[in-house]
Parts: sequence; structure tokens; C-alpha cells
Amino acid sequence: MSNLTSSKTGAFVIDFHDPFLILEYDKHFLDMMKYSIQTMRKHVTNLSDIIHEDDYNKLTTSLSHQLARSNHTFDQVRIIKGDQKSYPVLLNGQVYTLDDGREVLSFTCTDASVSEPSDAIQHNVSDLERFSQSVRCGLSKHICDNSLTLIWANDYYYKLFGYTKTEYEETFENSLIPLIYPEDLSLVVNSITSLLEDHKVDITFRIKHKSQNFRWVNLIAASISSEKYDGFPIANFVLNDITDLKYAEMRASLEAQKYEIISDISDEIPFEYEIHTVTITYSKKYDDIFGRKSIHRHPIEKFINAGLISEDTIDNFKGIYEAAIRGEAIHSTEYKLRTKHGDYEWHYSTFSLIKDEHDKPLRAVGILRNIDAQKKEQEALLKRAQTDAVTGLLNKATTETFLKQRLKKIQSGEYGIVMLIDIDDFKNINDTYGHLTGDEVIVDIAHILKQYTSNDGFVGRIGGDEFLVYLPNILDKTLACEKAEKFVSKLHTKYPGEEGKPKVTLSIGIAATDVPIPYSDIMEQADAAVYQAKLNGKDCYVLYNDAIERSEYHNERRSNMCNFDPIVISNAINILSEDSDTITCIQKAINYVGETLDIDRIAIWEYQNNRNFLDKTFEYQSPSYPYADGRTENLSAMQWEEVDTMTITGTYHSANTKAIKLNNFGKGSFSGVKEFMQSKFTYNGSAFAYIGYFSYSDDTVWSTNTIETFKLFSSILTGYM
Ligand code: GH3
Ligand code: MG
Repeated sequence: MSNLTSSKTGAFVIDFHDPFLILEYDKHFLDMMKYSIQTMRKHVTNLSDIIHEDDYNKLTTSLSHQLARSNHTFDQVRIIKGDQKSYPVLLNGQVYTLDDGREVLSFTCTDASVSEPSDAIQHNVSDLERFSQSVRCGLSKHICDNSLTLIWANDYYYKLFGYTKTEYEETFENSLIPLIYPEDLSLVVNSITSLLEDHKVDITFRIKHKSQNFRWVNLIAASISSEKYDGFPIANFVLNDITDLKYAEMRASLEAQKYEIISDISDEIPFEYEIHTVTITYSKKYDDIFGRKSIHRHPIEKFINAGLISEDTIDNFKGIYEAAIRGEAIHSTEYKLRTKHGDYEWHYSTFSLIKDEHDKPLRAVGILRNIDAQKKEQEALLKRAQTDAVTGLLNKATTETFLKQRLKKIQSGEYGIVMLIDIDDFKNINDTYGHLTGDEVIVDIAHILKQYTSNDGFVGRIGGDEFLVYLPNILDKTLACEKAEKFVSKLHTKYPGEEGKPKVTLSIGIAATDVPIPYSDIMEQADAAVYQAKLNGKDCYVLYNDAIERSEYHNERRSNMCNFDPIVISNAINILSEDSDTITCIQKAINYVGETLDIDRIAIWEYQNNRNFLDKTFEYQSPSYPYADGRTENLSAMQWEEVDTMTITGTYHSANTKAIKLNNFGKGSFSGVKEFMQSKFTYNGSAFAYIGYFSYSDDTVWSTNTIETFKLFSSILTGYM
């Protein structure tokens, strides 16, 4: 039996009356049944002998039903073969009438378990099958009814949902609807409904995957116009999983929105500066804040020319672009940018640079942030730290810092002027009028100084009653003197010494430089000049001259040491004692002192109230003395009286008479004098005559040594007069 090969098809004939006797069968059927002819005859007589007992009644009922309508039958049943196992088969029946008139049913039996169609058909089916199974998309056929019932699908269709075919059938009863993401259901249903008119839809929606995640799919559905089921159209679906694509798309869109999102949720405005097209693109928010378009070509020129950048921050603004072009990886800066309200507001800008593979800068990506509020707060704090609380002027430390910076920047052709201003006899003011008045005076002076100092200069309070004014870019030093006059005259108006208010005056020392100079140098000069102003009787200003030996002033100021030239003094004493004729001796002595110390003129004249007391006036004139006629007579007694009232010690000295206010000096013959000193000759405590020393050249600056020599010489002379 084992040599029997099993056939796929066989034929047999039955008598179509119970007990459905098997009348005949062919060899193929015998093979198929795995029987030999003998065993077949032994075991098989009726139809019931070969049909599975569970299928038998169903089959006979089916046959009756079918034969009631036609001569053909078709059934699928299980047959029991010689090995006693059951096999599914297809039974195609055909009614025949035999010669004797009996009706029989001839069956073609096809083994359904190995149901193999003919070669050609098999080829076609498997090509299509292979194709449909090989594509990476869901191919399916649906009835467009309420549940989109699945008729057929390729494997990938099930895979899309994450189910096996059986799970899909059992769980969803072949319906697609429960697998559609609820939010997208109406889209799908509406589109499928429209299939009736359009025959084709192309939509994207979400499906529920077995994993409980949703997946994005694209559906192309086309209705098959020739097919219908119960009046519902039938359609072919092509379903593509586009989840990854969708996420990529979403990411791209997020990327595109990122600037806007960042800029919306923060105060920052992202920008991109493309170097080769010289184009800056700000995020949209820029429009709202600045009221102008957010893309600009050639931004440096355009912004600056349109006045969008505050002048003082133009360099910072340019700097950021220049840094990008230079290829600096990161750069940040602050500048003032005009908003749509027309105000300049502080902005912080930073970028980081993107380069190509050759390290060439491509574009800078950065942000712009309004820091105006912080900046103002910072400025207020800084101001508080830098200023004197009483006057609002710069404090001492800041004045020093600022001055050091400015001194470094001085360019030739223009002077930087330092004015040191000290209140005269301020202690007296405090003592007489009280400290509160003293404070008011300080505040008023600060106000005046500030009011008459240009914006590019500054004013500091560097001591209790000491101020410093810095004036930059001054073309002519005399302008500084005019400024000093202004301060003084304003203060006179404010504090003339009337109506219970003090008279307040200032001593002003002015130092100027048109080259960069150390801070300590110019301060020493200004200090020396103030000191000189104090020596000159206060309420005046002194412009420091380069020839002043400032170290000597300072030495003197500190140690109060007095020097004189002992050789000149001893020679002068010798001359005075040479002859019994005192008049000749005095003349010789003043000639000697004048020549030796390079004085233009020395004169001795009598005090106004004692005109007859002095026998003779004396005069020495140097070759460079500018007035050949002598000026003794022209000296008005009134003028000298004024000088006299200023005299404290009996000696009056002015290092720069030209700088002394005009109501005291500069009138008539006195106008040409640069250095001047006057000493009183006293007898029994009252003045009877004066000696004056005059120098006319602007270059002349007497050293302390010279002055002290004059003083000593004058007091020696007194004994001879
Ligand atoms: P001089 O003409 O030589 O400058 O005489 P002076 O009295 O101004 O001398 P000095 O500079 O030594 O004295 C300055 C005085 O200023 C001493 C101090 O009591 C007073 N002073 C300093 N700071 C203040 C202040 O804030 N308010 C008031 N009311 N007085 C001050
Ligand atoms: Mg003072």
C-alpha cells in the first residue's frame, strides 16, 4: 500500500438514493483514497463510508438542495482515507441518467488540502501573491459599509496594525472602523462616503496599533465600480505607514517655528546673519518691537545711516558684524537701538558662528535681547558708587579714574584742562554761618561748576571744599581762564556777602596739557597753581606755566621751608656797605640784584601818606624792560592801596599778574607785568615806602629761591632807607 501514490483528483459515481451506493470509481480516486482495489471493495460501499461522519448529513442535505435547482453541485467536505485520517476535498457533482433510466451523480473529487491549480494558473496567482506580499504597504479590499468590512488583505496590512490575520478577524470581526484613531474617524468616514462620487480618495490619518500607540497612515482608496456588495461599493485600499515621515515633517515644522517659539516665550529676538549675502534676518517679533521689517541687507550702513543706533554705541554695533566676518566663534556686545517709540534702548547681542568645511565663516546665529531695564539699574548703581552723595558730582576715586583715562587720550592741538578749585576760608564760613550753610555753599558751587562745564567734561568733588573740573578739547588756554572767570563771577552773584549770607570766593589752579601726561604730573601742576592762587591773595585763578618749578612749590607747601640765594644776599650786603653814600649804594645794590636775578624792573617809591618821607625813589631797568620812559609816576597810589589791602605778610607776590582779575590789575601801566612782587618798608610799625620787582616776559617764572631772596633783600634794604 505504501507504493500507492496519492492522486489530487479522482472521480466516482453514486446512486442518488439513500444509502447513496458508490457505483463506480476510477483509478485516481482509488489512489487518492490510499486503498487497493481489494481493500476498497471490502471497506467502501456507500457514500457514508468515505465522508467524515460530522460532514455527512450536511453534505446529503446540501446535495438535495442543490439538485433541486440544478444538475450541478459543489461542496467542501472531509473524506476518510484508507489511513483513517480525514482530508478536506472539493466535490463537484454532475447528474447523469443511465441507460436503464436511473439517475446517478458523478463526482470529481479534488484534494483541498493540497489544492494545486493547474500550472499556468498557479503561476499567475503566485506572481500577484508574491507581489502583494512583497510590497511594504497594506493592500486590502473592503466593503464600504458601516464597518469597512475587510474582504482580503496582504500580510503587511495586518502588520500595520500589529495583529495577526486571525487576531484581526477575531478581535475586530474584519472591521477597520475600530482601528481608526477616534479623532480622525470623521475624516475617514467622510472620505469613504465621497468614494461614491469620486472613486478615489487620498487621505492621511492615525490608526491604533496593537502597542496602543497610534501610527500615521496615508490611504489611497479606489472604488471598484463593477463590484458591489449588498448595495455597498467595494474598494481597494493602499495603506502606507508614514509615521516616521510625519514625525520628521513635524520636526521640520517645529524647527521652522523654533525662532518664533523662542522669541515668543522669551524676551529674545533670534537672528541670523548671512555673511556672503550681507543679510540679517531677525525673527518676526522684531517687527512688533521696532516697527520695521525684519530682513535687512547691508545692516551696518543702513542702521547707522538711519540713526537706529545711538552714536555712542556705534562702534559696539559695528563690532559684532566685524567679529563675524573675522571668523570669531562667539562674540557679544551691547548697544543702544532705537525702538518704534523713538527711544534708544540698550540691547545685548550675541552670536555664534557657523563655518563651512574650509573654516570659512558662513553665518552667525544669535539673539538680540532688550537689557534696557537692567542697564538703567546698573547705571543707577554705578552712579551711586561713583558720585558724591551731597553734591551729585563724581567722587574722588571716580574723578581720578576718569581723569587718568582722559589724560591718555589727549591729542596734540587740543588741550585737556584740569582746574582745581578750593573754597577760600571755608573754615571761617562754617564757623561764622554754621555747617548747614557751609553745606549749602558746597552744593551751590557744585551746581555752578556743573552748569558751566560742557557735557564732554566732568566735575568731581575731591575734598571737603575742593573740586576738580576737567575740560577736554580746548583749543586755547585762555578759554580755560574765561571759564574760571565765569565760575568766580557766578559765585560772586550768588554769595556777595550780603543779607546774612557769606561772601564765598574760590582759588582756582589751572593746568593744561596737549600731550598725554601722567595723572600725578598734572595734579601737581594744578595743585601748585591753586597754592599760587592762595598766595596771590585768594579769590583768583592761576594758570600753571610749564616753567614753574612745581617741586619747589610742593616742597615749600609741605615743609614751609624758606630758601634764599646766600651769594646774592651776601654780595648785596657787601655793595650796600661799600660806600658812605647810601643812595648810590642802594642804587648799585638794586642794579646788582636786578641783573643777577634777571629782573626787568626794580622800583622803590614812597607810601602815599608819607610822600615827603622818602628822599628819593629808585629805579632799575633791564635792557629788555619794554617801557623806556620809566613808569614810576604812572603808578597810581590807589592801585597800590588795593594791593596793600591784599597783603598779609607785608609782601605781595603774583606769579601771573596777567591772570589776576582786572579790577585789581591790568589797568594802565601795569598791564604788561607777568611776575610781580611788592614788599613794604615799615618804620615803627607803619609803612613808609614800597619796593617792587617786575618781570614782563611771559616766560618768566620766579622760583621760590628768587622770591625769598627778594624778601630778604627787601628787609635788609629797610635798614638802609
Ligand atoms: P583756604 O582758603 O586756605 O582753603 O582756607 P579753608 O578754611 O578753606 O581751609 P581748609 O581747606 O583747611 O578747610 C576746609 C574746611 O572745610 C575744613 C572743614 O571743616 C570744612 N569742610 C570739609 N567738608 C565739609 C562739608 O562737607 N561741609 C561743611 N560745611 N564743611 C566742610
Ligand atoms: Mg579751602
